[in-house]
Amino acid sequence: MKRYIKLIIVAAVVIVFSQIGYSENLFNQKDTLTQVSTIDALLSGVYDGGMTIKELKKYGDLGLGSFNSLDGEMLAIDGRFYQVTSDGRAKQADINMKTPFAAVTFFEVDHRVDLRHGVNFNSFKKQMDNMISTPNIFYAIRIEGVFKAMKTRSVPKQSKPYEPLKEIVRNQPVFNFKNVKGTMVGFRCPPYVKGINLPGYHLHFLTEDGKAGGHVLEFMVQEAVLKVDETSRFSIILPQNKAFYDADLTSDKQADLKKIER
Ligand code: ZN
Repeated sequence: MKRYIKLIIVAAVVIVFSQIGYSENLFNQKDTLTQVSTIDALLSGVYDGGMTIKELKKYGDLGLGSFNSLDGEMLAIDGRFYQVTSDGRAKQADINMKTPFAAVTFFEVDHRVDLRHGVNFNSFKKQMDNMISTPNIFYAIRIEGVFKAMKTRSVPKQSKPYEPLKEIVRNQPVFNFKNVKGTMVGFRCPPYVKGINLPGYHLHFLTEDGKAGGHVLEFMVQEAVLKVDETSRFSIILPQNKAFYDADLTSDKQADLKKIER
């Protein structure tokens, strides 16, 4: 009988400790920005990754990225993942689609600020730069509201052999929205992520009806609310494929990055 009691106690201890481990993991995920691949790999034409949207969902409910073959812009809001194709139209992404580059987090609001009428991308950057406690951590961003103007772009699906991203965005389709309701999501990354992610601001937009959007180039606020999530953990998952393994990632690609952000 004593032996059974001992066994029960051991089992109970194992269960309790495994639960502590589990909840700690969940907690960590909430303040972690998880990224797939690197921006320099994407700039170099590594447009195929191995992670599905289904798997990416395990790492976050808000974020942005791209799809294999560069088939449009990706964004996630409230755990729903969307694809904005090169015609500017958005739809919920097939969970079996794969991503060559993405960044996601489980979004929790740390700061909430109203953005004034007339705020554009530049003045927004200045406002947020003044608001944050340090430029040296990551911030997840969610801006919801009505925009007097919104200018986005998407990218057309590529076929092999892939060209570098700076060549593709030369003919990028650009979309102009007027008086549009919707949500921007994205990140502010610290300056030292050069080569890995985009230093500074990167936002993607989705209209309220979920039918259009893209990578944000410019905007003007009618009325909007900015929500910010401070993120101090950074996790990176590298592709396990030949294209990534063979990519020449020795050169500085900051000049290329400036070209694609325009
Ligand atoms: Zn983008």
